[in-house]
Amino acid sequence: MPANDDPINSSAGDFQRLKRALRTLSATNHALLRASNEKTLLNEICRVAVEEAGYIMACVAYKAHDAAKSIPLVAYAGFETGFWEQAAPSWDADSARGRGVAGTAILTGKPAIIRNVLADPNFAPFRELAIERGYRSVIGLPLKVEGDMIGVLCIYAPEPDAFDGDEVGLLGQTAEDLAYGIESLRLRLRNKEAEETIKRLAYFDSLTGLPNRTQLRERLEQGIAEMKQQRRPLALLHVRVSRFREINETLGHLEGDKFLQETASRLAKAAGETGTVARTGEDEFAILLPKRDAEFATRMARKILVTLYEPVELSGLMLDSRAAIGIALFPGHGTDPTALMRRASVALYQAEHSGSGIAVYTGTLDAESARRLALMGDLRHAVESNELLLYCQPKVHISSRRVCGAEALVRWQHPQHGLLNPAAFIKLAENTGQITPLTYWILDAALGQSYAWREAGLAQPLAINLSAHDLRDPRLLDRIGSSFATWGAQPDWIQFELTESTLMEDPVGALVTLARLKDLGVELFIDDFGTGYSSLAYLQKLPVDSIKIDQSFVGKMTAKEDSAVIVRSTIELAHNLGLQVVAEGVENEETWTRLATLGCDVAQGYCISMPIPAEDFKDWVDRSRWHARTC
Ligand code: C2E
Ligand code: CA
Ligand code: CA
Repeated sequence: MPANDDPINSSAGDFQRLKRALRTLSATNHALLRASNEKTLLNEICRVAVEEAGYIMACVAYKAHDAAKSIPLVAYAGFETGFWEQAAPSWDADSARGRGVAGTAILTGKPAIIRNVLADPNFAPFRELAIERGYRSVIGLPLKVEGDMIGVLCIYAPEPDAFDGDEVGLLGQTAEDLAYGIESLRLRLRNKEAEETIKRLAYFDSLTGLPNRTQLRERLEQGIAEMKQQRRPLALLHVRVSRFREINETLGHLEGDKFLQETASRLAKAAGETGTVARTGEDEFAILLPKRDAEFATRMARKILVTLYEPVELSGLMLDSRAAIGIALFPGHGTDPTALMRRASVALYQAEHSGSGIAVYTGTLDAESARRLALMGDLRHAVESNELLLYCQPKVHISSRRVCGAEALVRWQHPQHGLLNPAAFIKLAENTGQITPLTYWILDAALGQSYAWREAGLAQPLAINLSAHDLRDPRLLDRIGSSFATWGAQPDWIQFELTESTLMEDPVGALVTLARLKDLGVELFIDDFGTGYSSLAYLQKLPVDSIKIDQSFVGKMTAKEDSAVIVRSTIELAHNLGLQVVAEGVENEETWTRLATLGCDVAQGYCISMPIPAEDFKDWVDRSRWHARTC
């Protein structure tokens, strides 16, 4: 056939080819305007090149950073039939497959053309596959995105010498526009992701993935508005888990985080579809229950306490978690988010101090509760700002009338309220997870004081009270060890007192900790004996040296016969077990004499001395008729 009869291989053909390339370019620009994601854009460009411009096949492939430096296909249109997969082009300059149009375009950053598939030696590896599909010439156009050659747009024509001059220019322009389109889509995607991250940070807690306080407030506002319209109630639960600080301090932040995540997932599970759980503070969560009343909220609170009580495994330890929950309701307790949140938190405070663990808001706080609520905040700073004082109360051996030690009792010199007794803040410290720093303070203060006494020639043991929280503190033993090292202390410098009810909270765990304390060589006392219902069998197992009969029995023993009976039989029981007996709360001479008759070993109480500042103890011993000498 004469060349000029062929519509494509003639000047008319030149025009046709140019038209084909122009169509590709303008359709590409249309596609760019409409594209909302990269994959659709690439498919559309390939479709346009084949269906609208008349090429036989068009495809886009991106270079991979694999060993073969392959260029996998990401989009195509037209007569492909597995060509690319079998051809397996590469962007490896040293491989024969890297010399095709795809590899060359990527490597050089310029359009690569095979004018005649049958003749070009660089096309040898792909020739058979191309002939089978009727490809006669090919152009590979590099795609440069954000300065990097990311891939190639390849276009296949059914005739040889299809790509030259102006057509190459137009197709080059197409590829550049396409690359620009890819770049802006990727940028848009990244911006969207960034926007979502910002939104997530502003509205969600990053550790637990739960909504944060800001989101809770918004949801509460929406919820209140909806419930107002529907004339339905709404419940807000404020939850505080009690052991987070302790875990954070003793096991480290990773374990603390794990504990919070576990707590969050249990709360979410308990709340189910009905509620929104949010993390509102370090160890605080809230649950929003639209359409729910006080009864439902209380039931939900009970369920939560039970699920949180299941032990969590942290650092190989099984730790159970306690929580307290305060409940406030719309509209009964408040009609705006601030009021409702505040009342739920007052109820939480009431729950923590009633001992029940759950409280529904009940109107205004009495003056005493309000004062304690404020104290709770101050207590956090009391240890750091050195507001605690070490007091002690002497103990006297009854038969010899000699001083045989003292009990360490903490006092808090509050900047506004003056000198506070432990009754005002120990329970509070226990309930708000602040007993650990307080115990550590006492430990150091007691050993420092003991050191000073020994310097001054007084060798009396000082007994430190431990709380139930202390028994569960995995760092307690290490802490005692390092305080001992600091002061060069001997085991007979201090003793520990643990109440009977503390031991009975976790009899098995207490036994283990007591054994470890005993291994230090210190003496151990069971405090407030008679109030904790321990069994004789359990008592026999405990590695303790003495028991302290609770002052409620001692104080009444001269007036009430049943108290006297309890004191007498306790002394007998203890002696049978080989334990010493201390009577607390000895307020008068008559009690002293009765105790002496019953064979009680040691007495402590106001008739001997009130608790005094520990630094005055040496003077007291020197002045008093209770002569100092180790029992
Ligand atoms: P406790 O261990 O039973 O301490 C004895 C309490 O009885 C002391 O009260 C003491 O002042 C009081 N007391 C002493 N003699 C008499 C008496 O003859 N009659 C009467 N009615 N009471 C007497 P305090 O110092 O107010 O301590 C109260 C409780 O606070 C202590 O009871 C103890 O459980 C706790 N506590 C005190 N200091 C600490 C501490 O450093 N750590 C811990 N965990 N608890 C402490
Ligand atoms: Ca005590
Ligand atoms: Ca006691």
